Amino acid sequence: MSLIASKFESILPSQTLAITAAAKKMRSEGQDITSFGAGEPDFDTPQFIKDAAIEALQEGHTKYTPATGIPELKEAIQAKLLTENGIEYDTSQISINCGAKHSCYNAILATCDPEDEVIIPAPYWTSYPEMVRLAGAEPYVVETKRENGWKITAEEFEESISGRTRMLILNSPNNPTGAVYTEDEIKALVEVAEQEDIIILSDEIYEKLTYNGKKHISTAAVNEAAKNLTITINGFSKVYSMTGWRLGYTAAPEEIAGAISKIQSHTTSNPTSFAQYGALAALHGEQSIIQDMVEEYDMRRQYMLSRFKSINNIDVVEPDGAFYFLVDTTKMGLNSMNLTEKLLSRYQVAAVPGCAFGYDMSVRFSYATSLDIIKKGLDRFEDFCRAH
Ligand SMILES: *Cc1c(COP(=O)(O)O)cnc(C)c1O
Repeated sequence: MSLIASKFESILPSQTLAITAAAKKMRSEGQDITSFGAGEPDFDTPQFIKDAAIEALQEGHTKYTPATGIPELKEAIQAKLLTENGIEYDTSQISINCGAKHSCYNAILATCDPEDEVIIPAPYWTSYPEMVRLAGAEPYVVETKRENGWKITAEEFEESISGRTRMLILNSPNNPTGAVYTEDEIKALVEVAEQEDIIILSDEIYEKLTYNGKKHISTAAVNEAAKNLTITINGFSKVYSMTGWRLGYTAAPEEIAGAISKIQSHTTSNPTSFAQYGALAALHGEQSIIQDMVEEYDMRRQYMLSRFKSINNIDVVEPDGAFYFLVDTTKMGLNSMNLTEKLLSRYQVAAVPGCAFGYDMSVRFSYATSLDIIKKGLDRFEDFCRAH
């Protein structure tokens, strides 16, 4: 007798964890490991946000809240989506969830039946296909091209549609590629989605982290049709360095918002009460703190780009957003597990293998780490590349 549900037979454990665990072990044994593995900001949560949560605790905000969050925070999110993203939502369309990861899962669970297919452009964020499987639906992975900047084109999207296609997952700025879709590119995708009645899950968690003057465009903002078929997802983890707080949100057509509210009321009850007051302070507070972080990321990004460009057996596409480089290692002819294991054991550099993102001949370098570590780590990586 199997003790677990059959759906878990096809669910993979997080492949990024193996390298992280190995790196941790080596570090505890005294080895000097430089890590590019981080999927979270290296900055602390700003003090005024912490203070607001502490105050909320002191004031007794320690009980259940409404299932989809406190009204004040919904109103602040509503105002943010209107003024910054140009999308008009009613507060009843907004649900606050336990991290944007939870928002993505709720959105898939609320909309996908077994047999439904979800189109996921690769390289993708490692959790999307597994979330789709957990919801009982089927991921349909579409490989994007490096020469297209790792973005799915409207033609590729159209060719991937079957009678069972239910959803397209769009993530811009993208983890792991750093790709940022333009308004025209999004419009072309929306046109296809509208024709074929396909929902778009738009994961916009990295919206504020863009460089080179590139602007983030919200899918739901491009026109009315887009708004009617899009689930907008965002959160507090990346932009306010609040990964441990577990707060994200969805804004969606009324029907979908209703289903998400039901899921949440029966599973998590609500996002953590006092954490929501911290998020409220984050949205009401001085936003210039974000600009300082973006400038720091951009400086690291430019440094890494120049280093990567000087190495001739790898390829990179300049990332316009997020805080990652996806280094294409096709020319080296090593698959990503081999490459990252060697890189770690012989050169003391930890990075995430591309197989975790559905593109095996690559490795992801995060720049959510200090410039000193980046410099030291890239010296070692360069030695590794020279030797292969
Ligand atoms: C980090 C991340 C998230 C989720 O962040 P939470 O900590 O759950 O809010 C969602 N999507 C992508 C692409 C991410 O990289």
